[in-house]
Amino acid sequence: SSRPEADSLVGAIDQGTSSTRFLVFNAKTAELISQHQVEINQSFPKEGWVEEDPKEILQSVCECMERTSEKLIQLNINISNVKAIGVTNQRETTVVWDKETGEPLYNAIVWLDLRTQSTVEKLIKKTPGKNKNHLKDKTGLPISTYFSALKLRWLMDNIESVAEAVQTNRAVFGTVDSWLIWCLTGGKNGGVHCTDVTNASRTMLFNIHTMQWDPELCKYFDVPIEILPEVRSSSEIYGYMVCNEYCLGDQSAALVGQMCFKDGQAKNTYGTGCFMLKNTGVKPVMSDHGLLTTVAYKLGRDQPVYYALEGSVAIAGAVVRWLKENLGIIKSSSDIEKLAATAGTSYGCYFVPAFSGLYAPYWEPSARGIICGLTQFTNSSHLAFAALEAVCFQTREVLDAMNQDSGVPLSQLQVDGGMTANKLLMQLQADILCIPVVRPSMSETTALGAAMAAGAAEGVCVWTINPDGMTSVTSEKYQPKINPDESEFRYTRWKKAVQKAMNWET
Ligand code: ADP
Repeated sequence: SSRPEADSLVGAIDQGTSSTRFLVFNAKTAELISQHQVEINQSFPKEGWVEEDPKEILQSVCECMERTSEKLIQLNINISNVKAIGVTNQRETTVVWDKETGEPLYNAIVWLDLRTQSTVEKLIKKTPGKNKNHLKDKTGLPISTYFSALKLRWLMDNIESVAEAVQTNRAVFGTVDSWLIWCLTGGKNGGVHCTDVTNASRTMLFNIHTMQWDPELCKYFDVPIEILPEVRSSSEIYGYMVCNEYCLGDQSAALVGQMCFKDGQAKNTYGTGCFMLKNTGVKPVMSDHGLLTTVAYKLGRDQPVYYALEGSVAIAGAVVRWLKENLGIIKSSSDIEKLAATAGTSYGCYFVPAFSGLYAPYWEPSARGIICGLTQFTNSSHLAFAALEAVCFQTREVLDAMNQDSGVPLSQLQVDGGMTANKLLMQLQADILCIPVVRPSMSETTALGAAMAAGAAEGVCVWTINPDGMTSVTSEKYQPKINPDESEFRYTRWKKAVQKAMNWET
């Protein structure tokens, strides 16, 4: 092999909403050496509820690591060359477990879950001026079903074993990063209970200015501060497994993996949901247009905190999964491209997939999905096209909000995530944004970001964050092809459909 065996490698655990991956990169060139991926089951026990099994999540991580190790051995690579392992994860998803037995006390409540909608509405009603941004100064977030605090509150109020374990001091809370790191560093036999600043910033219990759990927020949600994990930077040694681990919430990891280290650089990740993050530098910027202010990364204990503006879209790839699993009009997610291409248009059909309410820029938990503009002529290929177009329109709404907040329009959009394998979607996105869309040829940038954070950590310095040294980072560019008037026309129609999704009951 042309690869010298002694090259240092870094690994990344990428635990997403739809699947888990383990990837191994060359620490100098960022070349992807080997990987393995396993799908995660989701359960929908009631309308609007979304759960996953924390033990299945853990097992999927172990399986991916084992399979990848086997592949490395087949490539004649010694696994001891893997010097550090990063963790990147679905954010907000909430796990509570018993630190004495090591057992989860309930399923993980997934970020998309809507069970706290009525609590959210009650809390907002109680705030002065019924203001959903009542806690935004401290947290950067609107009060929403999306963030962990409400899910944790629900568990304490509704699951007896959780309430009991909290009272007897055995309960610990964590997002998926905390759960995995605790388990992988020893679990009930001394596992490390920690999280990083990016994941902490999505709980609604964390003050993004002081970088600490906030006693007032904990009181507001009535959460005992003792059950929360210790908050660390995104790039330091958390503990020892066979190797070391470093951690970033998945959207922050994608920002790092896309090398968006400069103020004003942005990326959009298309997975289960869609998340656009724009680096705003070392000062948090508060949005006037429905975006979140969130921690982007802190790459080392003594390094500065970088912030981002974020536009979160709840349903992107999830609409494709829905067409597959609920309607059965495609057999696999990738089939949607061919089906949509047979029509090449939605034929005036608009599909607003507000399955979990609408996130940015609306933050309306009571919105529900609609499909409108149907005629006798409409068929499954138009519906498929409309579903892909919905992802593009939602991204356009977020981009518009970013441009309005910053006053400087973005000249091109860097993209990544599972859905970006879909070339039709990428072209459609360029057409609807009227700016070029750039996709790295190695689309696993989220995992790359976590691996970079791991490599850059103190004491394990196998990776300097220097894009020029990375030989394998090349990209594809999609230029807008349709007339901007046409694009504008469709976008206006979309906005009308969104209004109907928000007020369909009234
Ligand atoms: P996550 O990180 O949220 O687990 P991924 O980045 O792994 O998500 O992307 C998976 C999502 O992308 C799934 O919802 C799937 O339906 C969708 N997806 C995967 N491939 C395609 C494709 N070729 N076209 C459209 N959607 C796709």
